[in-house]
Amino acid sequence: MPSRSNFIDGEWIDAESGDTFDTHDPANPDAVVGTYAQSGAVDAERAIEAALVASDEWADTPGPQRGRILSRASRVLAERKEELTELLVREEGKTQPEAAGEVQRAIDIFDYYGAKARDVGGTVKGASGPDTTLRTKTEPLGVAGLITPWNYPIAIPTWKIAPALAAGNAAVIKPATLAPGCTYEIAEALAEAGLPEGVLNVVTGPGGEVGDTIASHPDVDAVSFTGSTGVGNAVYDTATEDGKRVQLEMGGKNPIVVSDTADVAEAASIVAGGAFGVTGQACTATSRAIVYEDVYDEFVDAVVAEAEGIEPGNGLEGGEMGPQVSASELEGTLDYVTVGKQEGATLETGGDALDRDGHFVEPTVFADVDADSRIAQEEIFGPVLSVIPVGGYHEALAVANGVEYGLSAGIVTDDHTEANRFVDDIEAGVVKVNEKTTGVELHVPFGGMKASSSETYREQGEAGIDFYSITKTVYDN
Ligand code: NAD
Repeated sequence: MPSRSNFIDGEWIDAESGDTFDTHDPANPDAVVGTYAQSGAVDAERAIEAALVASDEWADTPGPQRGRILSRASRVLAERKEELTELLVREEGKTQPEAAGEVQRAIDIFDYYGAKARDVGGTVKGASGPDTTLRTKTEPLGVAGLITPWNYPIAIPTWKIAPALAAGNAAVIKPATLAPGCTYEIAEALAEAGLPEGVLNVVTGPGGEVGDTIASHPDVDAVSFTGSTGVGNAVYDTATEDGKRVQLEMGGKNPIVVSDTADVAEAASIVAGGAFGVTGQACTATSRAIVYEDVYDEFVDAVVAEAEGIEPGNGLEGGEMGPQVSASELEGTLDYVTVGKQEGATLETGGDALDRDGHFVEPTVFADVDADSRIAQEEIFGPVLSVIPVGGYHEALAVANGVEYGLSAGIVTDDHTEANRFVDDIEAGVVKVNEKTTGVELHVPFGGMKASSSETYREQGEAGIDFYSITKTVYDN
């Protein structure tokens, strides 16, 4: 069982208050998984100071050398894949294959940015005159503040830490209190790989204190936040007060349109995968299926059969859908089930908590959902799908775009022209044709539109490095 202090300047340091908090297994809530430091502002300030002191030397470390450390960290994580997977299942509740996939993603991200770090620094451009060389020079911003949610507790910290470090920044990360264990595993892997002390610091504790100190501190140059839209917007307001660069990845209400040209069985399988995978606790989860009337009844039957075919259970015991992460997340989902019934939607299947230990809920499908109702507008963050009938493309598009969010969206269609039209018309940062709305690749940009990202910087791929860098253009005569 991990028992971790804060990781500051290469040392394990208790919170100034001496207080700790426990994490619990969502499938077996009486079991304590880890104990962590209940930090406050003073601990966050100490971590920021350590990062500031370490930042100059790390910025001056050549990219290839930085890259070698990240690549080595990738190999250390790979050696520990099995134990990391188990920790992730026990602390956050994913199924074993989902957790193994997420750990592999973290391994791949360090591998990717290890290679990328070798190219960081600038590019030679065509000369602007006979005696002038022209080049760009990229420099790190300084200290990056990273604030992460619980739902991808190893992948999200990794896709912030790896590009921040590759670009030459020092960093302070505050993982979510529900599942901080994996972030410490990353810090340990990097230390083992040779990362200098102070370049990465980890502080746990309440967002309102530790997160807010990171967002507001004058020695932090950039803040990358992933979490809910309400908190993200507050972080943005705080962090931009003194001109920090801010990246926001927030909520979603992701639609998938099912056209009358779709193979209905395939569409139902795609939709169910996006709605019930990772227990619906993904920012890119499919929460609205917008279905053409001609195939509506057939689709509802097929997606209900998919939902009923899923066996929820403990991820370490072969469960096909894990629990929700906490009692309050489960309660939130059950509250939305009540709202859906009150709003007159038809509860086709699910809707109840499982009668067993753990925060388990049934995969749930509502049909005949009004596009303006709360269950069709608000992020539920649980395995609840709303199916909405529409007359054709124009109505489908209006419904798909008719929410405040714009993260991920999909269409299932056999009509290439319709697919291309949807790619052009949809207000979403990620668009999937004949694929589920969840699942993204690490080497391409990721981010949303509207309230999902507030149109800030993209993450992942080269966009990840860009966020943590500033470019100078040099005319050298
Ligand atoms: P959350 O907003 O409650 O917390 C996110 C992080 O912010 C946590 O570390 C939390 O402690 C911290 N925090 C809380 N209050 C703060 C404050 N005042 N100042 C600074 N930091 C503060 O989100 P969550 O419940 O951990 O995660 C679920 C949410 O995350 C969902 O809305 C989901 O859509 C979103 N999410 C988005 C993406 C994406 O890439 N768009 C990915 C995963 C999750």
